[in-house]
Amino acid sequence: MFVSVSSAPLEETTTAEVSRTDPENPETLEELKSDERPLLEGDMLQPEDRNAVSRVWPTLEIPYEISPELAGRRDELLAAMAMVSKHTCVSFHQRGAERDHLLFTKGKGCASYVGFIGGPQQVFVGPRCTVGNVVHEILHALGFYHEHTRTDRGGYVTIVLQNVLPGKERNFKQRDGQTFGLPYDLQSILHYGRSFFSSNGLPTIIAKEDVEDMGQRVRLTETDVQRVRRLYKCDALRPPSKGRAGKDGGRRLHPCPHYISQHTEAVTPVLPVLPVL
Ligand SMILES: [Zn+2]
Repeated sequence: MFVSVSSAPLEETTTAEVSRTDPENPETLEELKSDERPLLEGDMLQPEDRNAVSRVWPTLEIPYEISPELAGRRDELLAAMAMVSKHTCVSFHQRGAERDHLLFTKGKGCASYVGFIGGPQQVFVGPRCTVGNVVHEILHALGFYHEHTRTDRGGYVTIVLQNVLPGKERNFKQRDGQTFGLPYDLQSILHYGRSFFSSNGLPTIIAKEDVEDMGQRVRLTETDVQRVRRLYKCDALRPPSKGRAGKDGGRRLHPCPHYISQHTEAVTPVLPVLPVL
């Protein structure tokens, strides 16, 4: 149900290029893997199996594992997962014997595959990746592309390709993805900021309306919440089961109440269904 991955892999970036990316945006520090894993778009990794049957996770209860080198980042990773699970039916739990799982791995920047690929699915977390960056990567892993690549972006932003790092133009290529009828969201956690992948410090994306926090990596917007709810059909779920605890229909909420109260209170309640564009 989701757009297929581009068939043309991006060339691996060079260290020189990385050094010229925006130091404030670790997602632009692309993963430089020794296996030269092809990069799709900025922080998005291209699955090797591009003919995967489904890109949506086959479960709402997603197992995760944190690699030992990220043990010191555990609270941040839990907070990121909690931010996603709080307003959706997707939950995360520490992996048991499950084969398919998110594997948080230390990286140079923040990077993720897009959608379910099966097996241990790496989400790369670099030293400068914030909780919000990790949320952004988790949304990629759940199946979402960048907001600014929507085909209707022309009404909301102008892409200034002459300011984009040579070779990175593909990061701004439009994709005919599923929008679920949700309005274009300049503040989405999946939207690039004004100077992401700029070659010269000048804007690469100019919003057509005044917006202060384009490219924010602090919170999920209401449309971010809605896009997860719709892709994973959260509103079509079965009624609460008596066999499983919780007023939440039995879904597992991640235990991180301190972080939730401190950092996600700006997330607005779930909206009613919005009109199709
Ligand atoms: Zn991204």
